[in-house]
Amino acid sequence: MARPTCRRIAGLPSEAVTEIGDALVDAGLITGDGPKLPLAVGKCRVCGCTERDCRLCAERQGYECCWMDFDRQDLCSACAPLLEVEVCSILPHPIGKQLDDAGYMTVGSLYGKVPEEICGIAGLKPKSLLKALSVVEEWVRGQLTRTVEGDALPDMTGDLAPVEG
Ligand SMILES: [Zn+2]
Ligand SMILES: [Zn+2]
Repeated sequence: MARPTCRRIAGLPSEAVTEIGDALVDAGLITGDGPKLPLAVGKCRVCGCTERDCRLCAERQGYECCWMDFDRQDLCSACAPLLEVEVCSILPHPIGKQLDDAGYMTVGSLYGKVPEEICGIAGLKPKSLLKALSVVEEWVRGQLTRTVEGDALPDMTGDLAPVEG
């Protein structure tokens, strides 16, 4: 797995982060290849954290996350381990095994998918597949209410209202 690129700089406006990024490219410390994405636009597709609001990850793991892929900015380092968990460990038999055999071995290979995207499993009823996908979703959502050690987080719903702006 690629090493996450940490570029979250608390308290710095995004323009400043862009300037720093450009300076690093000029200095040859990072490459400027790939699409030039405006910084601070990313959102984790699992927990929904952004450059502006990473409080959930900080609560869950004790420190702020960083992007697993800085160009895509769609998955944070706090959520990445969840997507690597083996499907067999959260789904009952035989469906866990069937999915595993068909190449859907990790939570990440199923998370956020619709049944039509899952193929190659002979004799699997659409209903069972739908159920399996919802179990995976629920499991991930459940993990987001806990610390990485498995302790329940205090209810932060009020606290985690989206930050405007
Ligand atoms: Zn995340
Ligand atoms: Zn985060």
